[in-house]
Amino acid sequence: MIEVQNLTKRYGAHYAVNNISFQVEEGEILGFLGPNGAGKSTTMNILTGYLSATDGRVRINGHDILEEPNLAKSSIGYLPEQPPLYLDMTVREYLDFMYDLKKCKLDRQQHIAEICRLVKIEDVYGRLIKNLSKGYRQRVGVAQALVGHPPVLILDEPTVGLDPNQIIEIRTLIKNLGKHHTVILSSHILPEIEAVCDRIVVINKGVIVADDTAADLSKRYSNDQRTLLRVSGPETDVLSLIARVPGVADATSLGEKEPGVFEYAIDPDGTTDFRKELFRRLAERNWPIMSLRSMEMSLEEIFIALTRENIPKSAKSVQRRDTASRGTDKKGGKSE
Ligand code: ADP
Ligand code: MG
Repeated sequence: MIEVQNLTKRYGAHYAVNNISFQVEEGEILGFLGPNGAGKSTTMNILTGYLSATDGRVRINGHDILEEPNLAKSSIGYLPEQPPLYLDMTVREYLDFMYDLKKCKLDRQQHIAEICRLVKIEDVYGRLIKNLSKGYRQRVGVAQALVGHPPVLILDEPTVGLDPNQIIEIRTLIKNLGKHHTVILSSHILPEIEAVCDRIVVINKGVIVADDTAADLSKRYSNDQRTLLRVSGPETDVLSLIARVPGVADATSLGEKEPGVFEYAIDPDGTTDFRKELFRRLAERNWPIMSLRSMEMSLEEIFIALTRENIPKSAKSVQRRDTASRGTDKKGGKSE
C-alpha cells in the first residue's frame, strides 16, 4: 500500500531523514515513533507530496509520488502537525471548501454528514472554527483528511496539546478509522502508539532503529535479556561453572557484593533456558544462589534505549536484526 525506499532529506549538511525504508500493508495501523526532531514530520511531508525528497522514492497505492502526484495524493488524507484550518470559517464552510479543493465526486451532503457523524462534530457543524476547543479543532482536522474517502490516512502527532480525555477520544477514533483505512500515525509518546498501532517503526535522528510489532519488540528483548545472579562461593570457580551451563552465551563477574557473595551478569544464547540447570549445578557444588533476577525491559525502556545516544548492548542487537536486511544499519557489526 505504501512503499518508502531509501528516502533521504538533507538540509545543507544536516540529514533530517537519512536513507529510510519501510512498507505499510493495506489495513495496517503503523505507528511512527520517535523523539522530537527525529524526522517524523519531514517523512510525512514527503509521503504526502508537500515536500520533495533529496533522494529515494515513495509509492502510494502503486503510484509514485513524483511520477503520478495526483493519483498518489488522491489516495491520501493528511492531518499535518499544524492542521490547515481556516479559523473564520464555520465547520460546514470549511468542509465544503475542502470538498471542492479535493474535487470530491461523492454525494456532497451525504459524504460530509457521514464524516461529521464519524468524527463526532455534528453538534458544532454551524460554529466558527476559531471558537472551537483544541479537541474539536483536531477532530475537524481529521474530518478534512477524510474528505474524498482516501484509502490512506497520515496523521502527524494528532493528540499533541489535547487533554487526557480528548486524547482517549482521538485514539478511539483512530482505531475505528483503522478498520476502513490504512493509517500512519506519528507520535513521540510510546503508550499512544502502543494503544493504537499494529506495528511500530522507531525513528531516531533520521534513521530507522526498529521496525516490529510491539509484542515482538518486547519478546525480542526478553529472549535477549541479561540475568543478574548472586552466588555465595569462590568467584573464579563459580564463573567457569556458569559459563559451561547450556544456554549461556557469556558470563562476567561484577565483583563481591556481600561478604563471600559475588554478582555475575549472564547473557543467554537464546537456545535454551539456562536457569534450572544452573540451579542444579550450583546446588551440587553447594554454592547457594542468593538472588537471580532478569533485567527485563518495558517497552518504554526499549524506546528510550533505542533513541538515546549510547545504545546499550541488548538494544544494539535489536537494532542490528531490525535493520540489517534493510541496509540502514549505521552502527555496523561489533562495536561494543
Ligand atoms: P519530528 O517531526 O520528528 O519532530 P522533523 O521532521 O520536524 O522532526 O525534523 C527533523 C530534523 O530536520 C530536525 O533536526 C529539524 O530541525 C530539521 N528540519 C526540519 N525542517 C527543516 C528545515 N526546513 N530546514 C532545516 N532543518 C529542518
Ligand atoms: Mg513533527
